[in-house]
Amino acid sequence: MSTVTVELRDPGPQPDTYDPDWVHAKYAFERAKRLRRDGLDQFVEVTAEFSHYADDLYTERTERDPVDDEVQVLVIGAGLGSLIAAVRLREAGFDDIRMVDKAGDVGGTWYWNRYPGAQCDVEAYVYMPLLEELDYIPERKYAFGPEIRKHCVRIAEKYDLYRNSLFQTAVTGMEWDDDAGKWTVTTDRGDTITATVVVVSPGPLSRPKLPGIPGINEFTGHTFHTSRWDYGYTGGGEENWELTGLADKTVGIVGTGATALQCVPHTGRFAEQLYVFQRTPAAVDVRGDHPTDPGFAAGLKPGWQKERIENFTHWTSGAGAEVDLVSDGWTKVSNDLTTPAVLREMARRTEPMTMEDIGEFLYEEDFKSMEAVRAHIADVVDDPETAKALTPWYKRMCKRLSFHDSYLQTFNRDNVTLVDTDGRGIERLTTDGVVVGGTEYKVDALIFATGFEVGTNYTKRAGFDIVGRNGIRLSDKWAKGPRTLHGLQTHDFPNCFFLGYTQSGIAPNYVHTAEERAGHLAYLLGRWRELGGGVIEADQDAEEQWCTAMADSTVVGKQFFLDCTPSYLDSEGDNDNPDSLLVAGYGGGPIAFFDILRQWREAGDMAGVSVSGGAPAAPGR
Ligand code: NDP
Repeated sequence: MSTVTVELRDPGPQPDTYDPDWVHAKYAFERAKRLRRDGLDQFVEVTAEFSHYADDLYTERTERDPVDDEVQVLVIGAGLGSLIAAVRLREAGFDDIRMVDKAGDVGGTWYWNRYPGAQCDVEAYVYMPLLEELDYIPERKYAFGPEIRKHCVRIAEKYDLYRNSLFQTAVTGMEWDDDAGKWTVTTDRGDTITATVVVVSPGPLSRPKLPGIPGINEFTGHTFHTSRWDYGYTGGGEENWELTGLADKTVGIVGTGATALQCVPHTGRFAEQLYVFQRTPAAVDVRGDHPTDPGFAAGLKPGWQKERIENFTHWTSGAGAEVDLVSDGWTKVSNDLTTPAVLREMARRTEPMTMEDIGEFLYEEDFKSMEAVRAHIADVVDDPETAKALTPWYKRMCKRLSFHDSYLQTFNRDNVTLVDTDGRGIERLTTDGVVVGGTEYKVDALIFATGFEVGTNYTKRAGFDIVGRNGIRLSDKWAKGPRTLHGLQTHDFPNCFFLGYTQSGIAPNYVHTAEERAGHLAYLLGRWRELGGGVIEADQDAEEQWCTAMADSTVVGKQFFLDCTPSYLDSEGDNDNPDSLLVAGYGGGPIAFFDILRQWREAGDMAGVSVSGGAPAAPGR
């Protein structure tokens, strides 16, 4: 594990004027407190004694007979990425598609995350896919979870994706049959499905994780993970966030990430007493959410959503654009802290800027941006000690940007207490409480807002292994991280395509990445069909070249994270983890990556991808 060696030295009070040495020392000091030797091992999986944390509380299990049949395209996963891919394949004339998912319905993240306050954290007009196709306008600038989930259902209905689908079904294995030129996929329902093509999309943030706090299995109070919100205990429901069951309860929420920001206000409103256990404060900025202006739809011209999605990614990846269509915190911060800011500064200065100048300039701009966040916290939170504890000390881009208009305000309630662990985390759990700094906080219920497994081996997160040509296992081939061509295909695993974030451009708006990958997939399969079907596979050489391009492109990003507060983004400070999200994203940024894919398609020569043999597939079958 590579980490920066830092001296654990408190640099003392903040100087009145900007002093980069003080800022570096302060950030390093805070990072050092938070950094843990056990890295990703600090978390426990929701298996064995913890498996109930992953139970589906939303759909009653239905028994059914095992399926033993054949489909042309099997899509593993039914979240947003899979839905978009299935839609684009339908449009390309593929009729025989089956979706299979562990969940009881489509939606992925939005199926599972039904906690009170769940809301998309990028604008709904760019995040909710296929708005024009479905002739739908979201109710608010940032849609709430139930609206997004229902939108997923409407997509599945409109494109007939429920036909032949299998829910409450987990894939357990997948093996390539070279003679047949097909995959055999098995499930926990005893199904055996033969598929010509398999699209694998387990979702980048889908396996809930728990902190391996000593005593976690001794706690006897009620407990659950936010992605399995137990309305049976809290009262209320998915669409009614009146948590009346908490009126006489002392509740603890562990975590202060994006999820906690959204569920803390609702829990604080209803619990008799709420303790929020914090390890690292979030850099919470103003959200500015509002209902959709009734005139918004009237002004939209055909093609508006694609234009808006692309415009948002241009802004948030520093590529800039003439107009800022979304104009929110995301685009503002990106405009202030990335290339457009550097270009403005270059135009302002009379002397050219060296790389060092640019680094120093951006560091100071980042500091100013964080100072604004810190001032906002001090303004909103009444108690100065609480405000101080809620104040984050790291670079703005070290964590996914956070916005919320009632999280900080919740700490002004008499029944809500912030328990700050000063970067060190909870000490231990007792049978009925949480211990921090030697003090035990008794709770009736403990809610884990502790996020999802990221940065572990792909097949572990997917929950099944894939056996390719000549018995090669994906877990072996990708033991040191994914190896793909453009993130979608890997040699020796023909007719298999990956969605999600593997080795591709990561846009802050996941749906843009998903759309681009789905479009590329539809192109590849369209060409495959034209060429007579059979076996489609990435060439070894092309894969090697893409892996090299990926490795070269991520050097700067890895450098940036060296002095960041640890998080799931950098595998808890392990910048060399080959499965880290840090190295999953093409370092040139999403726009450059999407351009690479577009140019590759425009060249039309399928460079690095072979299509050969097999029985020709008729269109639509
Ligand atoms: P995160 O991983 O971001 O946050 C987990 C939280 O648990 C952190 O605050 C972490 O502290 C804390 N934690 C972990 N272990 C301990 C411990 N031992 N003691 C105390 N605290 C602990 O998970 P989230 O679910 O909040 O968010 C994950 C991602 O999911 C987001 O970044 C976002 O991409 C996505 N998301 C999107 C949403 C949307 O679009 N609406 C909403 C929610 C999530 P520390 O910070 O120190 O690591």
